[in-house]
Amino acid sequence: MKTSSPQPLAIDPMAEKIPDLRKVGEMVQACIQCGTCTGSCPNAFAMDLTPRTLWRLVQMGQADDIFQSKTFMLCSACYACALRCPRGLPLTEAMGVLKQVAAKRGLHRYKESIFFYQNFMESVRRHGRVREMEFMTLYFNAMRNPLLPFKFASLGFKLMIKGKVSLQLPSKGKGRLDAIFRKVKSLEQS
Ligand code: SF4
Ligand code: SF4
Repeated sequence: MKTSSPQPLAIDPMAEKIPDLRKVGEMVQACIQCGTCTGSCPNAFAMDLTPRTLWRLVQMGQADDIFQSKTFMLCSACYACALRCPRGLPLTEAMGVLKQVAAKRGLHRYKESIFFYQNFMESVRRHGRVREMEFMTLYFNAMRNPLLPFKFASLGFKLMIKGKVSLQLPSKGKGRLDAIFRKVKSLEQS
């Protein structure tokens, strides 16, 4: 029996201005709204939209609603949804592309997450692994909120007592992963 291939979904004019959103639309085009991704997601309890709803909005090209939501920023890339999706869709990568769009567009409502990711990666670039004290110092500097460190002080102290965080001062490091970071950047720009 001849089967017809799925038709591309219409993307609204706002979404047309965000080429990467079309890419995400293609990634989840075959979603059948079964909800398995939502049921599998360990972070769904904290999300304002369930993953299933997010994918429907992506299919409909509802850029405004998508970028009002914090759902994709709360994805911790555990791959549970992607492994269980009956259509085999690359859902974790799709969440990652949405994060990249938010970062590229410098959307203010995501600035905490964007600075968090960027400074985590900066510490990894410098030393080949994250240095927690340095990472948080860079993050606090980027956020320019003098009260923010107090919010994390109690947790930081507990982690230090348990030996989970070492007292290493920030340094420029040896740039151990410079070559990899440069390569990734050139691939992203190509
Ligand atoms: S598990 Fe896959 S098919 Fe089911 S709702 Fe989620 S993305 Fe769609
Ligand atoms: S990859 Fe992200 S969206 Fe998927 S189950 Fe894990 S945390 Fe949830």
